[in-house]
Amino acid sequence: MSSRQILPTNVRPRHYALALTPDLDTFTFSGQVTIDIGVLEQTSTFVLNALELDVHSAKFYSTTGKTEQTYIASNVDLDTAKQTLTLTFPVPVPAGATGQLVIAFTGTINDQMCGFYRSSYTGSDGTKRYMGATQFAATDARRAFPCWDEPAIKATFDVALNVPRHMTTLSNMNVVSESEVKGESARKLVTFATTPAMSTYLLAFVVGELDYVEASSSGAKNGTPILCRVYTPPGQSEEGEFALDIATRTLEYFAGIFGQPYPLPKMDLIALPDFSMGAMENWGLVTFRTTALLWDKTSSSVNAKLRVAGVVAHELAHQWFGNLVTMAWWSDLWLNEGFATWVGWLAVDHLFPEWTIWNQFVADTVYSGLALDALRSSHPIEVRVDDATEIMQIFDAISYSKGGSVLRMLSDYLGIDVFLAGIRRYLKRHSYANASTDDLWHALSEESGLDVSTFMAAWTRQIGYPVLTVTSVDKAAFTVRQNRFLSSGDVSDAEDANLWWVPLALATESGQAANTADQTAALTARQGQFATPPHAVFFKLNHRQSGVYRVQYPKEHLDRLAQAIRAGQMVEVADRISVLSDAAALAVSGAGSTANVLSLLTSFENETEYLVWSEVNDHLTSIASLWFEQPEAERAALDAIAIRLFATQVQRLGWDPREDEGFLAAQLRTLAIQCAGMSGHKSVIEEARARFTKFITGNQAALHPDVRSPAFRIVVKYGGAEEFDAVLKQYRETKTADQKIAALSALAQTQDAALLDRLLNLSLSEEDVRPQDTIHLYRAVADNTMACRILWRFMQEKYDQLAGRYKAMPPMLGAAVKCACVRFSTRKDADEIEAFFAARDHRLVERAVQQSVERVRSNAAWLERAKDEVSAWLREHAASAPTSTGAAV
Ligand SMILES: [Zn+2]
Repeated sequence: MSSRQILPTNVRPRHYALALTPDLDTFTFSGQVTIDIGVLEQTSTFVLNALELDVHSAKFYSTTGKTEQTYIASNVDLDTAKQTLTLTFPVPVPAGATGQLVIAFTGTINDQMCGFYRSSYTGSDGTKRYMGATQFAATDARRAFPCWDEPAIKATFDVALNVPRHMTTLSNMNVVSESEVKGESARKLVTFATTPAMSTYLLAFVVGELDYVEASSSGAKNGTPILCRVYTPPGQSEEGEFALDIATRTLEYFAGIFGQPYPLPKMDLIALPDFSMGAMENWGLVTFRTTALLWDKTSSSVNAKLRVAGVVAHELAHQWFGNLVTMAWWSDLWLNEGFATWVGWLAVDHLFPEWTIWNQFVADTVYSGLALDALRSSHPIEVRVDDATEIMQIFDAISYSKGGSVLRMLSDYLGIDVFLAGIRRYLKRHSYANASTDDLWHALSEESGLDVSTFMAAWTRQIGYPVLTVTSVDKAAFTVRQNRFLSSGDVSDAEDANLWWVPLALATESGQAANTADQTAALTARQGQFATPPHAVFFKLNHRQSGVYRVQYPKEHLDRLAQAIRAGQMVEVADRISVLSDAAALAVSGAGSTANVLSLLTSFENETEYLVWSEVNDHLTSIASLWFEQPEAERAALDAIAIRLFATQVQRLGWDPREDEGFLAAQLRTLAIQCAGMSGHKSVIEEARARFTKFITGNQAALHPDVRSPAFRIVVKYGGAEEFDAVLKQYRETKTADQKIAALSALAQTQDAALLDRLLNLSLSEEDVRPQDTIHLYRAVADNTMACRILWRFMQEKYDQLAGRYKAMPPMLGAAVKCACVRFSTRKDADEIEAFFAARDHRLVERAVQQSVERVRSNAAWLERAKDEVSAWLREHAASAPTSTGAAV
């Protein structure tokens, strides 16, 4: 096992003055960094981080007491593997010396979306233009300048950029001066105010032609209004208005709940045409991919609006949690990401209570965490990571989703007021410094009077989570046992040794159980007995899926819950979702029956809530996708279930929005049209075609932005080259970020192998599909069961090319690998995937490969178990199902 690659602690930086001169014609830059350092132990070598830089000189101007001395590095050694720069001086520098280390260097403005990189856009004259931007998280500041590139080594920064005169230049802080560069009238020197003490991964700058919209926050909680701007490529600034509104309001909300003002004088948010992550929380200069920041009120969809609100709130939460107080090392990445995930939703809930965002949190965040953590190849929330490659691979559903879910469970248990008071204590104590998970538990313990770490340690240090099995329910009491949950269902004794603290959170038809003792009841041992809520028609555990676990009920009890759902007695949306989700997860693991899941799915016919329908669709889709190489008649029968369920919703909601309907109804319309149409509902397909024809011939109103994505998918799936080319034209011509991705994803639904080949080849042509968007395309191809094998073959043929392209972006490469493998359901496929990667260097995507192989084996086991019972169920229920494509709307 490798050891953690950290820098020696004999030298410490306090302040950086960074001066860079980028050249956007040659994509190179020259720079000089002057670092104020202190030497703690006598040494003749300084070791810092650098990668893909040419270092031309390094001098240390030292002062020890009254002695001044200049040390000139006699040897400059760049170690590409360790990503370090070692400066060796001819004589040792004594302990106690302070002074300035001055390093001159040059580098490349790369096309890898990390470090200092270039991003292209189309100018108003139609020509291709470039801007320069940075992405330093997690470990890529070292690609832009030599530095001590670890989160715990905080320093202050002065940034000065020598840039073309006509370009806008941004950094974390406000501009303090702009002056002409001597002898170069076409350039200017822009200097920025000194930052507070911060980690290197949060530094940022951007140079380019940009437009913006601006507004100030109210200042109600910050004391003074904060100037916020949303920057966009030229001509798109209006699309920044929605994000701007979210930003100004959220900055005040967070200043209130975090108990301290936003610490910088301004907040810029910028949409970059090329961006590897969703967004990056650089202090005072948050960078986004366009789909996460831009929202056009005339042509963007309702789902895009939710995404923008969610991502902006998440990034602004980091301004305190992550930027002001930073994890000490990447093994605590979850502290940043889990917290920003949870509190980002808290802010969206505050801004848009009618969106009922916590139900969305359950459906998206909780279940994506539980899905990944049901694999052996998952990892604990607090995870050992040694080097850059390992660090990038944990930006995943465990750090974000399970982390956020665990914090929600704790805040529900302690109460939101106590929880936030503990957070304020933690932020105050560690401001401008670093902290660990234990520091957070400590602050929450002080606030709550409970020893938080005793019951939370298991959640962050152990891999996995429990399934609670409810047994022997009678009027007085019921028994609950906990065991580790694995989706493969084959938990060994050793894997089952761990126990968790599990809050039961009983719910009945009257909402949460009246007896408060039951509300705070928690299972802490392997097994426990608890009081049955008196006079309840039904009870379920894990009210609103607040806890990070699954529940298995006896068959009669589950039937009672299904009956309560049908009778409208289970009022909480998240409770209905959790009954279904748990039953489905247990069917996969073999602890429950897939046929029973199908019965349960059909009991949602009277449902009206979008998120429950979304959950119904998820499980129906995963069964249909497991069946992708099963008999045609059975697949048609599964489609018929989807048609029957969703046709009613299409009929109820229609194709055009109504003035008085809410956000969730609009989301449900999008979902219902897609599900009914993609399952083969004739009249929905016809309506999609008719509206699409009007739309592409100039009648924009024929397809409301919310239904463009489903309509595009439907016409491509049931059309040929003509429809494919028409949607491709939409993809190329639309300027709206979310609709561009919608069109690209729709293309992937073609059933024509030749068109698929064409599309997959387009995915490698940067002129057609930006490398940042390729993953959207693969994800959409993975949704098309007909294309699964074609995608996997393509991935094998092109893997080396993709690995080269994404070598600096392991999460993207990992996501591509997962897309290509995830649908398979035979052991032979699992073996083939394993053998393919075993034969080549796959360190960049090691976790993704392990997780994919495990998922395929788990699918195989599920299919073997479910095959006969599902076939029988489908035969039995075929009589009551409508003919596959005939249901009328
Ligand atoms: Zn984040």
